[in-house]
Amino acid sequence: MSAGEQVPAYDHQGRIIGWLPIADAETAHARQEICRYCDRLEQIPFVGQMMDFFGADLSQYRCRECGCPILSKTRVATSTCPIGKW
Ligand code: SF4
Repeated sequence: MSAGEQVPAYDHQGRIIGWLPIADAETAHARQEICRYCDRLEQIPFVGQMMDFFGADLSQYRCRECGCPILSKTRVATSTCPIGKW
């Protein structure tokens, strides 16, 4: 991870409340492979409907344990799996 690679963290009203460091691509990919086969993975219903309406990719998933979107969660360097899988 190099300095300056960060993503915004939002509160429930969409306001930026801080900045989070990005994990390197290899780490994010390894985490995503673990999540992909986890029984806590679930599709986000509302995003799925939105994406379907616009004809885009439906593969939007979140972690049932913490509620976080998987692609975002796995790309934050300081993120952790709530049940210790990564
Ligand atoms: S973060 Fe952990 S509990 Fe959540 S889907 Fe991924 S492996 Fe499963």
